Amino acid sequence: MYKQEKFEGVNSIKINRYFQSDEDCYRYLAGIKWSLDNPSLDNPYKCKKCGHAKFGKGKKPYSRRCAKCNYDESPMAGTMFDKLKFSLLIAFHIVFKISTKKKGMSSLELSEEFELRQKTCREFKWKVQQVMASSRNFPLTGEVHVDEFLTGEYERGKTGRSSESKKKLVIVALEILDKEGVGRAYAQVINRASAKEFTPFFKAHISKEAKVIADQWKGYLPLKKEYPLLKQMPSNKGANLKELHIHIMNIQGWLRGIHHHCTKERLQGYLDEYHYRYNRRNNMGAIFDLTIRKMVCHKPIRLNNNDLKTAT
Ligand SMILES: [Zn+2]
Repeated sequence: MYKQEKFEGVNSIKINRYFQSDEDCYRYLAGIKWSLDNPSLDNPYKCKKCGHAKFGKGKKPYSRRCAKCNYDESPMAGTMFDKLKFSLLIAFHIVFKISTKKKGMSSLELSEEFELRQKTCREFKWKVQQVMASSRNFPLTGEVHVDEFLTGEYERGKTGRSSESKKKLVIVALEILDKEGVGRAYAQVINRASAKEFTPFFKAHISKEAKVIADQWKGYLPLKKEYPLLKQMPSNKGANLKELHIHIMNIQGWLRGIHHHCTKERLQGYLDEYHYRYNRRNNMGAIFDLTIRKMVCHKPIRLNNNDLKTAT
């Protein structure tokens, strides 16, 4: 069994020293994939083709060859790193940049930094964003403020209502802590500001015992059945939910800097990326290892290229 490693930190020099070759990264992946501590994967080793439990050394570094059918499995097979189009070392450094840099990195910046095609970076970044989606296992608790906001494309040369239809509606919820300010937050793209659209977001991300505060929009009314502590108050142009509106302004500022046009799915990816970092801002040292771990446990995904055409 390989030793399971755990890289901690946000320092570039430290990560550059830790991962110097593809082999270092294969070793790290193998440690996660075939570790006894990993309950989400077949453990200990079991051949993917025939189920046999004995193995020998495979062709690539740290890969395993089934002793019965000779199937050679690399540490990347069956994970988000499956069929990677560039070196695993670069992939590790990209994951590090996206997960630890406060504002992440656009595919253009990644393409310049790592000398890859922008399309390649865009596709890989999309995969990283998929594991950044909330597990939905830790709903917000205590006092939770909720509101919606519009975001999306602002077409050049056009102003006001002409681009209205291309904007997208997002619902966002933020925990308000007594003395330490704000806690965690989640956001989701919705089609319209209706109870029908609000309900799945509430169910996924807010505890039923939470003291939810929203503005007086009628769409929130039916939610009082399942959320008995939900209160509505006049928004007073944002003055009543001040922390939440600062949070919304920060998301909008970040989105403006990073993308110009994207599909609903793509926008959700950005919102997930933003909140993945935001909700771990007090424990950033562990975020790289966590992201790699999630990518190992996630099945490979195929991309719909239309989703990625214009996003950065
Ligand atoms: Zn086999």
